[in-house]
Amino acid sequence: MILLDYIVNLSIFSLLVSVPLILRSFISHKPLKDLHLLGGIYAGIISVILVGLSFNEQGYSYDIRYAILILAFSYLGPGAGVITAIIALATRLAVSENWLPAVIGVLLILIAFTVIHRYTQHHKAVRKTAILYGVYCIIYIITVPVIFNVFRDSLIFHLQYLLFVGLGVIVGSLLIESFERLIRIITAKKQMEKTLEESESKYRLIAENTSDLIAVMDRDRSLSYLSPSHEFVLGYEVPELQKMEVDIVIHPDEAENFQAGMQRIFENNERMAMEFRLKHRDGHWIEFESRCMPVEGENGVIEHVVMISRDISERKKAEEFLLQSEKLSIVGELAAGVAHEIRNPLTTIKGFLQLYRSDNTQINELLLSELERIENITTEMLTLGKPQAIQMDTADLKDIIVKTVELLSPQANMNGIQFKLNIAYGDFLILCEKNQIKQVFLNILKNAMEAMGNGGDIEISLKSNNDGGCIVSFQDQGCGIPDEFLPRLGEPFYTLKEKGTGLGLMICHKIIKQHHGSIVYKSKIGEGTLIEITLPLLKAIT
Ligand code: ADP
Ligand code: MG
Repeated sequence: MILLDYIVNLSIFSLLVSVPLILRSFISHKPLKDLHLLGGIYAGIISVILVGLSFNEQGYSYDIRYAILILAFSYLGPGAGVITAIIALATRLAVSENWLPAVIGVLLILIAFTVIHRYTQHHKAVRKTAILYGVYCIIYIITVPVIFNVFRDSLIFHLQYLLFVGLGVIVGSLLIESFERLIRIITAKKQMEKTLEESESKYRLIAENTSDLIAVMDRDRSLSYLSPSHEFVLGYEVPELQKMEVDIVIHPDEAENFQAGMQRIFENNERMAMEFRLKHRDGHWIEFESRCMPVEGENGVIEHVVMISRDISERKKAEEFLLQSEKLSIVGELAAGVAHEIRNPLTTIKGFLQLYRSDNTQINELLLSELERIENITTEMLTLGKPQAIQMDTADLKDIIVKTVELLSPQANMNGIQFKLNIAYGDFLILCEKNQIKQVFLNILKNAMEAMGNGGDIEISLKSNNDGGCIVSFQDQGCGIPDEFLPRLGEPFYTLKEKGTGLGLMICHKIIKQHHGSIVYKSKIGEGTLIEITLPLLKAIT
């Protein structure tokens, strides 16, 4: 039964071709080092088995060893092809006589295949296989029936034989091709997964190490991603925040605006910038500026909105400060103008007063001393208000203290506060910008006065520290500063007052640092605060 033999041969042939492919898929996908040699030997072994499986039909012997030879040549190269051919020929010679056609046939095939290999190196293996099979058919026809006169009259035998080998070639190359295709798909998939993983880890790295808040909102307004920065910026755990309604964390005044904005982004595919306040876990509000970007899904509908939000509280404060300082400088200029306008009539009044002295010398003295005070205050206001270039000069700290106190006296009197000066003997000469040092004393004294709602004494003392410097200290009887706040004094915008700027002490620190000095605070709640400023003296007092 020739058909059964066909089937048995082809099945065993398929199995033998599949075995190395299956093994390779289990072991590794890396190309083998000695593929030609090992492949050639294995193909040779297959050819031995195929010769063993050959069957006879009316005296004509059929086997498909040439199918494996063609496949070895096209898929593994001439090296493997030659090894296969030698093993197949040796087996063939061992099992039957009539050596000449077999030897000549194999030689011709080897020569033809090697030549064809040179010219088809860059062709796909399937195409090469088809060409090799075609050439094989031609050589077969020329040698077997024509030259060696084997079964020349029984054309059907030869056709059956060639068809048999052809089927083997087709089955074998189908198996190899499908396997290679699978490997290619798997490798491409793995490569894609690797690239995806790499880019994902890169984005994750950025998202997880930024202090900005990165969030992804879905169409149903749920938050499908929140960067870990939410935890340290807002104080909530990410899963906890994901479960919360947006309206709970967003400021009630801005919730409606936020929802309307989101609606617009989802519906109109618009990018948008928003500002809103979010509630920190401990209850305070933080201002954010947020950029919202719509992300389209596969069907062109907006599926997500990516929000990148930044804490802008500090920026807002800085803007406010700028506005405030601009206002202050205008007020300063105005005050300087007013002071100037007051001084002129003052001079006239003083002149006339001296001219028309009354009999009562006490009244005269009083009037003149009061006028002098007004004059001093206006002079101080003029020097403070005028913008001046910084110019370091020698000055006596004593004078600066006295003048500052003079400037603040009217205000202090109104609030029931007395300044008590306790100045040591000697000159306290320092190299300084007079107005700046005056500004420091003004800020400190104003804070002290603001802390003393019920009036009291402010003691200002000046003494040398026996270390080439001097200490100016201000002791008030105000409300005091809690211990935990002491280290934060001098930080910009740090204030405990409702209408404070938190800039006074910052400016003091800056100025004192420029003058190579230092500030120390000691305070007791309910009793008062002591501020000590140390400054280097030009000449140590002996
Ligand atoms: P501001 O006066 O605008 O609040 P400052 O920088 O001058 O800003 O002061 C910062 C804070 O330090 C004040 O808000 C106040 O709470 C505290 N402070 C400074 N000096 C005193 C003082 N003598 N007594 C009590 N608190 C003080
Ligand atoms: Mg202040």
